[in-house]
Amino acid sequence: MNNLKLNSPLQFVKGVGPKRAQVLAKSGLVEVKDILYYFPRHYLDRTNIIPIAKLKWNETATIIGTIKSHGVLYGRRPRYEVILGDDTGSITLVWFHSIKYWERLFKKGQKFAATGMVSHYNGLQMIHPDLERLEEDSDRMIHAGRIIPVYPQTSELNKVGLNSKNIRKLTSFIFDNLNDEIPDNLPEQELKKYKLFGLHQAIKNIHYPPNRDDIEKSRKRLAFDELLNFQFLVFNNKKYKEQTIKKHSYKRPGAKLTEFKNNLSFELTTGQKKVIKEIFEDLQKKHPMSRLLQGDVGSGKTVVAILAGLYVADNGMQVAFMAPTEILAEQHYRNWKNPLSEVGISSALLTSSFKPKEKKKTAQQCQQGEISILFGTHALIYDYVSFKNLGLVIIDEQHRFGVEQRGKLYTKGDHPDLLVMTATPIPRTLAMTFYGDLDISTIDTLPSGRKPIQTVWRNKDVRDKVYRFVVNNVKKGGQAYIVYPLIEKSDQLELENVEDAYRELSEGALRECRLGMVHGRIKPKERQEILHRFFNKELDILLATTVIEVGLDNPNATVMIIEHAERFGLSQLHQLRGRIGRGDKQATLIAIAHPPISDIGRQRLDYFVSTTDGFKIAEADLKLRGPGEMFGVRQSGLPELRIAKITEDQDLIKAARELLQYLFQNENRLDSGYQKLYNYLEKNTEQKQTLLSAG
Ligand code: ADP
Ligand code: MG
Repeated sequence: MNNLKLNSPLQFVKGVGPKRAQVLAKSGLVEVKDILYYFPRHYLDRTNIIPIAKLKWNETATIIGTIKSHGVLYGRRPRYEVILGDDTGSITLVWFHSIKYWERLFKKGQKFAATGMVSHYNGLQMIHPDLERLEEDSDRMIHAGRIIPVYPQTSELNKVGLNSKNIRKLTSFIFDNLNDEIPDNLPEQELKKYKLFGLHQAIKNIHYPPNRDDIEKSRKRLAFDELLNFQFLVFNNKKYKEQTIKKHSYKRPGAKLTEFKNNLSFELTTGQKKVIKEIFEDLQKKHPMSRLLQGDVGSGKTVVAILAGLYVADNGMQVAFMAPTEILAEQHYRNWKNPLSEVGISSALLTSSFKPKEKKKTAQQCQQGEISILFGTHALIYDYVSFKNLGLVIIDEQHRFGVEQRGKLYTKGDHPDLLVMTATPIPRTLAMTFYGDLDISTIDTLPSGRKPIQTVWRNKDVRDKVYRFVVNNVKKGGQAYIVYPLIEKSDQLELENVEDAYRELSEGALRECRLGMVHGRIKPKERQEILHRFFNKELDILLATTVIEVGLDNPNATVMIIEHAERFGLSQLHQLRGRIGRGDKQATLIAIAHPPISDIGRQRLDYFVSTTDGFKIAEADLKLRGPGEMFGVRQSGLPELRIAKITEDQDLIKAARELLQYLFQNENRLDSGYQKLYNYLEKNTEQKQTLLSAG
């Protein structure tokens, strides 16, 4: 078959066959055009290969070498080691699993390219590197200065022999025999305006770039397409919301609200007042509200949401208030049920750890409208929960929920208003990109009387001093958190873990204090109990993993130690820091770093201690890490960006938004080229859209 078309089934392409086709189909690769969108992960080319002697710790690099020796090392946990050497030195490659597989694969003298993070353990090593066996031909290509693609691999693909080399054979064969031109939906004018490659050229070059510059140029073009599709969803969703008319409406805020505010033990900040005004105005509109409330940790978002809930409840509608953890849902309920009932608003709590009988009772009351505000966790989305007239959905720490979950709760009402909250402030450009369909309210002040948290980072050598500081603080009635990256000892990661630390410190440096421990593997009930004891000051120090990251509010906790702070992202460090300094006492955070610390780790820590401003932290984090991990983009319901880079492609984002604005503003009177693009985008995003518009 040397007459391939874009829609030819892959099964019949030379070298594929039914068995491989089946595996490919599992990854969504069915037709020829699908594999053209299976982009290389990186490239082997002479200019980016590093001599082993020049490798640096904690950096990702590609090396080429021959196998000097290999074998299994039996220890508490067996591992497979390969010594790979080039003219300048050697490095150990390590695998902790699939030992049989590796044993069969390697032979002394074979040549490999390995890509991975360089670490140090009795010499240089790479754990689980990306491997590419270099046969004569690829070796020759590299030395001839050719750039060869390395494809992402999965064990599934490997099992049927579709390693990077064979995928390369496949893509190369396809390009040699493809009879179709990949159709380009971008109008000619746009290609010229933004100096973009045509689609066919871009796709061919991303697989087989004639030079390094063309990789980037091709990536840009493909990134532009990706951003267009992505932003189309956001634009379309906004359009949909603007066309929807809700059935319920609210009177002006009444006496209950005033009374409730008067009962609060504090004055609302100007930032809080501002966003409350925005939210109330929004609620009174005829379209359902879709609003994101953002504000730094501790800025007081909860009370704002409660006021919105109270307003809605006062108008005879119900409110669902969903939080991502039981701890948090329970905390909200505990804090607000009395103030709410004092003004005659009923509330209840529902979580998964309730007994079936309790669940049933609460669900019934909710269905009959006896409960005005229902606090809860994911339990709220279960089918047995229904509302008589759900008017407002509030979602705390919204990035912790998947889009389906948010949608499920949303559809329990008839176009209810929606308020989602996040403590990870989002830089403006990013907010436009990801949340362009939401209106945004920002609390830009902290409650008065808060003292900035003293933050330092120290080397682990000073730990004893740090423990003494904690003990002294406890003696003065203060409480503390100590945060660890792991639950238990791991062979792969040489990191401190909370279980060992708890054992050691209880008898060692912190034996005078009452310690508690929480982590993800402790049962919810027990975890709850430990936290209660911590809140009630029956425990002095809470040793924890990052399960405490969101929302916990114990104003008496004023000290936090973070072990292996060099391992955490900036936003996460900031979130953790938000657990302390929630009262008017001075709080202190000590970030403990364990060498070797990479340059980027050092940069992160320096930045972390230099500011307590969540917005600045978010900007910096974005620059250092990219948005993927930072905002839980995966949960946003928007497709994952595979090729666009939010931080580097700002110009492309702007261009894509401009083009979409043009398309949406001139809908129904677009000329044929633009209409074609519009139709294509609409069709291409259809499936995703149904999900998104639910919330
Ligand atoms: P976050 O924005 O991180 O969700 P919370 O809503 O949990 O913050 O509020 C943090 C703490 O600040 C809570 O103990 C809350 O009662 C308190 N708080 C909220 N608003 C104010 C205010 N205007 N003045 C003083 N304390 C406030
Ligand atoms: Mg909160």
